[in-house]
This record gives sequence, structure tokens and C-alpha cells, in this order.
Amino acid sequence: MKYLSVNTYPMLSINTSKLLHNAEKVLQDCKKQGIELAAVIKGFNGIEEAALQFSKAGYAQIASSRIDQIIDARNFGIKGPFMLIRIPMLSEIKNLVEYVDISLNSEISIIEAINDECIAQKKLHGIVLMVDLGDLREGFWDKSELIRVAQKIENNMLGLKLMGVGTNLGCYGSIKPTEEKMNELCQVAEEIERIIGRRLEIISGGATSSYPLVLNRTMPKKINHLRIGEGIILAYDLQDLWGLDMAGLYQDVFTFKAEVVEIKEKPTHPVGEIFIDGFGHKPAYEDRGIRKRAILATGKLDYAIHDKIFPKNIGMEVIGSSSDHTIVDIQDCKDNLTVGDILEFNISYPSLMYLTNSRYVNIEIVEGHYE
Ligand SMILES: *Cc1c(COP(=O)(O)O)cnc(C)c1O
Repeated sequence: MKYLSVNTYPMLSINTSKLLHNAEKVLQDCKKQGIELAAVIKGFNGIEEAALQFSKAGYAQIASSRIDQIIDARNFGIKGPFMLIRIPMLSEIKNLVEYVDISLNSEISIIEAINDECIAQKKLHGIVLMVDLGDLREGFWDKSELIRVAQKIENNMLGLKLMGVGTNLGCYGSIKPTEEKMNELCQVAEEIERIIGRRLEIISGGATSSYPLVLNRTMPKKINHLRIGEGIILAYDLQDLWGLDMAGLYQDVFTFKAEVVEIKEKPTHPVGEIFIDGFGHKPAYEDRGIRKRAILATGKLDYAIHDKIFPKNIGMEVIGSSSDHTIVDIQDCKDNLTVGDILEFNISYPSLMYLTNSRYVNIEIVEGHYE
């Protein structure tokens, strides 16, 4: 394992059996509606033991925005094909062609560079052209430019295979994936298919935020591919934001564990002249009188945002943090806590990203459905 700390805690525990269960369930649901999936491993920084579950489950591609994670996965022996889901940098084209099978693209100069490198390395690389449907992150905005590029790849670029089209929604512009947006993508795909005279293999309708259309059975038939991370690994957003029943999925694949180093009763309002906190902010402090709190030996450096970690113990509330400390209100908690205890947390996507990237957080791999 590459994430090693001299301390045992803080620790992030990953249950690979639960992850495999989620991966298989989401894939089955999608396959029933003719949709293949790329499993996105960037949410947990590509940790190989976790990424391995996706290839075990039989995903069409293993995907990441970071080429390093793909290279690590390959070296670990994980079966591809691998897909790069961030537009490749010109400076990474050599590695792209060597290690990655398919990439999402939107710039002709980058596509040309990939083609040249493919010819040099005698390889074939798959291209999915991204269409911007209003979220205003990556993708062609001008449809005629998109079609010109598609034709050029199809007819003039021997190192490339035009695999299809894709879109991304709900990232920058917060645009909701709807049936209408999906139909727009299908129309673009049909236009390209008419011009090149063959069917495209991949019509990629987005990320986890497009999965509700599968569950609601409103996904247009022509959409045959999604790129899913969060919906498999945490499965929170669909329940919290979309009100969908995620009962068939484990929401505790990941457990964050941190150690108590102080327990004391203290005032809830700081004492003295309030200036700024450790990060230059001036927070508001509610005076709730004297309350019992615990300090944990973990902080923003490990998980970034304390609002995004959730104590499993009932009656516990995370009230603040600095880079290396977390303050938890335990006044209403019935558990008998002492210094040295390990507290457990559920985590969200942002904290997962940081926790799996920290050299101070130990990674523990566990198996079994009842862990
Ligand atoms: C991150 C990302 C995904 C996966 O997003 P989830 O919300 O984790 O499913 C899919 N496609 C692209 C282009 C991405 O950047």
C-alpha cells in the first residue's frame, strides 16, 4: 500500500466486499437497460484494492481524471480498458497513449497530438468527443465544429478510433441531467452517425447524477454508457438530493476513524476578544453554556471540511476544526467516552477525496458484509 503513516490513527477503513456488492448492483441495474458503465476511481484516489473490485464486477472501463491513478491500477494488475475522463494535457500525451485506451476530448490540437503519438507508438486510441449541453465545463459548444472534428477523426486519423460522444452535467453549471438533455446528446450522436455512415459505440450520458434517469426508467434508449463513481462508492447523493431509495446499496463502504486526545467540559462561546480563526475566518459562536466536548487528533489537513464527516455515535456533533484537531460536542451522547477511544465517522465525497490522498491517514482494507 502506498499510503503509509507511522501512526495507526487517523484511519480510513475500506470494506472491499461492500464495495464489490455496490459495484455489481449498480452495473446490473444499468445493464438491464442496455447501459454499460465506466467505473470512476478518482473519488478514492485510485487505491488499487478498491479499484480492483470494479474490474471484478465486470465494468466496461476503469476511469479516472488522473493518469497516475490509471498507471498505478495497470501496474497493480487491474484489467482495463482504461478511460481518462479529464481532457488530456498536451504534456501527458505520451503516457496517455502508452497507458490509457480511451479518452474524453474537446480540442482538435490535442486530438491531433494523440494521433501523432499513436502512429509513433503503433497504437490505436479511442476518442469520445464531449458535447457541452449547458453545464459549461468541457465539451464542444459549436455543433458544426464538433461534426467537423468527428469527420476528421473518422476519415484522416489512422491512430484514432472515434468511439462516440459524451456529456458532463451538474459539475460547474449545476445543470440537472434530464430526459431533454439526454435527447439532445442522442440527436448529436445521430447526426454524426449519419455523416460517418456507421453507428457509434459509446453514447455517454454523464456521471452519477444521470443514474436517476436509469432508476426512473426515463433514460432515452440510445444512451448506452455512463461514467459512475459516487453512486457506487458512497451512494449518498442519490438518496439525499434525489430522494431515491438506495436500500440495495451499502452506504458504509468507507469508515473514518480518529482518536480522542482530550475530553473536558468547557464554555461554548470563546472567552476573550474574538479575532480570526486558524484559517482567517471569523465564525459565529452560539453560547450554549458549559458543555462536554472531545478533541480528536485529526483535522482539516486530513479531511478538508468538518461539515462533511458524520459521527456514527448518536448525540455527537462536530462543531469545529483546525488543521490537526477536531472538536466534537458529546454532551448529549449516551456513550461513555474516554481519552484513547476511537470514534467512527461516515464521510462524504469531498472528505473521501482528501482522506485517501493524505500521507497521515492509514488505509485499512477489510472484507466481509458485517464488518
Ligand atoms: C468525476 C467525473 C465523473 C464521475 O462522477 P461521479 O459523480 O463520481 O459519478 C464522470 N465523468 C467525468 C467527466 C468526471 O469528471
